[in-house]
Amino acid sequence: METQGTAEKNEATGGAKTHAGSCHCGAVQFRVTADLGKGAGRCNCSICTKVAQLGGIVKPEAFELLSSEENLSSYEWGGRTSQRYFCKRCGIHCFARGNLAVLGGAYVSVNYNCLDGV
Ligand SMILES: [Zn+2]
Repeated sequence: METQGTAEKNEATGGAKTHAGSCHCGAVQFRVTADLGKGAGRCNCSICTKVAQLGGIVKPEAFELLSSEENLSSYEWGGRTSQRYFCKRCGIHCFARGNLAVLGGAYVSVNYNCLDGV
């Protein structure tokens, strides 16, 4: 219905801003539109614990990779519900792409520690 679409749009844009992000060496560059005021989550999965990621979940359309996919390496494990991407050169975990019904389908988990000037 028309009204449902409008509600989703308002929710998606309310308080959200576009932020630039990068890895440590700068080979990986991205942009994400997210409402940082909603806070970030510290995931307790085995890998987020080890890399101390502070993350936020956004829809794939709110995330834009500006650098080449060739600068990324990726890793997935266990149930293979998400694929983590990190810089081939400096090893910083920048984001993950996944698909989980409880998160509304396809998503990108962004490492907020990689956002510039935040
Ligand atoms: Zn790097």
